[in-house]
Amino acid sequence: MIAEVIVDVLSSEVDKVFDYNIPSSFSNITVGFRVLVPFGNRKIEGYVVNIKESTNCPPNKLKSIISLCDDFPLIKKELINLMFYMKEKLYLRLLDGIRLAVPSQVRGGVGDKVERVIYLNEEKVNDFIASLNKRQKNAPLVIEYLNTKGKENYTTLSKKFTNATINKMLECKVLLEEAKKVNRLELVKGNNKVVKLTDLQQKAVENILNCKDKPTVLFGVTGSGKTEVYMNVIDKIIGDGKTALMLVPEISLTPQMVKVFTGRFGENVAVLHSALSMGEKRDEWFRIYNGDAKIVVGARSAIFAPLDNIGIIIIDEEHDGSYLSDNSPRYQTHDIALFRGGFNNCPLVLGSATPSIETFYKAKTGDYNLVEMPIRVNKRPLPPIEIVNMCNEFKLGNTTPLSSIMLEKLDDVIKSGKQAILFINRRGFSSYLMCRECSYIPKCTECDASLVYHKNDGVLKCHYCGKKFKALTKCPECGSGSIKLGATGTQQIVELLHEHFPSANIFRLDNDSVTSKDAYSRILGEFGRTKSSILVGTQMVTKGHDFPAVTFVGIVDADISLFNYSYKASETTFQLMTQVSGRAGRSEDSGSVVLQTFVPSNQVYLTCANYDYYKFYEKEINLREVTKFPPFARLIRILLTSIDDNLVKDATHKLIMKLKEFRVDYGKDFYFLEAMKSPVNKIKNKHRYQVVLRFANNIATEVLDKIYKLLDEIRNSKLSVFVENNPQSLS
Ligand code: ADP
Ligand code: ZN
Ligand code: ZN
Repeated sequence: MIAEVIVDVLSSEVDKVFDYNIPSSFSNITVGFRVLVPFGNRKIEGYVVNIKESTNCPPNKLKSIISLCDDFPLIKKELINLMFYMKEKLYLRLLDGIRLAVPSQVRGGVGDKVERVIYLNEEKVNDFIASLNKRQKNAPLVIEYLNTKGKENYTTLSKKFTNATINKMLECKVLLEEAKKVNRLELVKGNNKVVKLTDLQQKAVENILNCKDKPTVLFGVTGSGKTEVYMNVIDKIIGDGKTALMLVPEISLTPQMVKVFTGRFGENVAVLHSALSMGEKRDEWFRIYNGDAKIVVGARSAIFAPLDNIGIIIIDEEHDGSYLSDNSPRYQTHDIALFRGGFNNCPLVLGSATPSIETFYKAKTGDYNLVEMPIRVNKRPLPPIEIVNMCNEFKLGNTTPLSSIMLEKLDDVIKSGKQAILFINRRGFSSYLMCRECSYIPKCTECDASLVYHKNDGVLKCHYCGKKFKALTKCPECGSGSIKLGATGTQQIVELLHEHFPSANIFRLDNDSVTSKDAYSRILGEFGRTKSSILVGTQMVTKGHDFPAVTFVGIVDADISLFNYSYKASETTFQLMTQVSGRAGRSEDSGSVVLQTFVPSNQVYLTCANYDYYKFYEKEINLREVTKFPPFARLIRILLTSIDDNLVKDATHKLIMKLKEFRVDYGKDFYFLEAMKSPVNKIKNKHRYQVVLRFANNIATEVLDKIYKLLDEIRNSKLSVFVENNPQSLS
């Protein structure tokens, strides 16, 4: 028999299947096995993706598999199909797919963690006690301890009673030991709070379970009880003997979600996310692979979990940016979920209080099934949002980033012993410039996009067309000289708060203060326990937290995400503002929100302040239609990178010439085509260029096929090429 093998060499040139002879001694080999094969003059690992009777490879060239690396197939059939799908549709290498399906932690050779478990040898206990002398004080205690406890692991026992004692007792055979495989990850277990579903929740559960032919959008406001819906759906699916995949954004940041799930489903839950240690990840992966855990709760990469017989896939907070992998390999989790949902013929749920525009458009047009939960479970109102015009503050002489209303509200919180969250909307390296007097923001003359200030070159650039502009010193609208970078740091705010509220307890949550997973939960834990406290932070404070004492949420600088030069800027801003506002007033005390902006009349804020997603959606979808952006068009970025600047420059030039040639065939269906240096010119010494294209949906498949073929011709070992579909940012 012949095996088709993908070799573990990350190079585009060898990213195809190679035929190998299967020696008759490997009769247990199946598709998915990891094997050792001769390749050139090396021996390397590979993966069997197909087994067939014959090959076109001449017998004198055909090599044989050297050995099998495991005695079971590491990749399941479904994931092998998925890899080929990803290669064809998403222009990912087969090996990229393999590495996602079999993470390095699994390939890496970490073994099971085995614990020494100690127990008493009843036959010897009496003789042993009789033989004890007075100096052996610990030994009787060990016996007493094990008499009550039965078994205990060696580490704990020797910590309690010293190594010497335990070793000696093992020597005398009064203690015996056995090896036990243990899980490295200790799941924090929450309580199982069983609630009676509301009518809305009950309907949602039924609706989801009944809809298998298309994804369901679960559109429920913050606090509408979506998690409870997910758990009831999962309960039913598990009852039917199937498995469940539940994705949440940045799970290491939402330990609460894991607790809720382990509280309900116990050991049946496996957790997968990037903050796990090598061994933890491996153990969890095998618990899933072996069918010991039927429910996977995980972040983006968990979509590749080795589950069999999936009965439900849920993407919670489906609009969240973390579902788009913007590092190689680049993929959108939704695409993979659609494939797996189709393969398993199971329901797929996209849950959110603020669905992405593209998702909601599909729900409105009937491509997706729409389920709504428009009220909070406890019928509590959503906290009112007050918009504060920071231009006015500035005119009144307040040049600090905190408005007087914001300070008043914080004062109330401190005096009443409650808690507040202050959100600093800041991310990334780049920023926009803005006039402090009239809120003028420089925009590109060709595109409807704010310009990005590149501090190093001292210029403003359009990230859509690459056009450069001189940085401003004076406002062209009103002549004012107070042009400022629209960014404020958490540090700065914390200092300011200390001045204003010397008695307040102030906590900071950002990349600088959170240096580990533990720091994150420690800070949040302390904040949760402290009265009269303020939590100041970046986007980390917006996600999923449920602090009952938080009565106030302050948004310091809403505008930053609004002008972040992406076609999704309005959308992301609306989502962020709604999300963070939802943190206030979740319990008995009602909450309120203050949103500071320099553009108070912007539709995003007006609709957000009324929690009017529908209205926001209508405005935004119209704009997208007129300007021809997704979902009404396909936006593609081709990213070319190389250590050699000239090489990548030439390649980009050649590519754009070819694309211009075939663009002609499509006439008006091709909206935009431009090559430019990437806004981030160089990462890890690799020069980056990009080609941005925008064209009609109806030609997308054809155009992409052509692009992929072109790229196959130009990519080589010195030049990497990536393709992104509707990327969130073009940096
Ligand atoms: P969402 O994810 O939609 O923002 P959650 O799932 O976090 O909402 O639910 C909000 C709160 O309501 C949680 O504390 C949850 O335990 C509670 N809850 C959910 N469903 C019910 C119910 N049917 N009865 C009582 N409390 C519920
Ligand atoms: Zn101005
Ligand atoms: Zn432009």
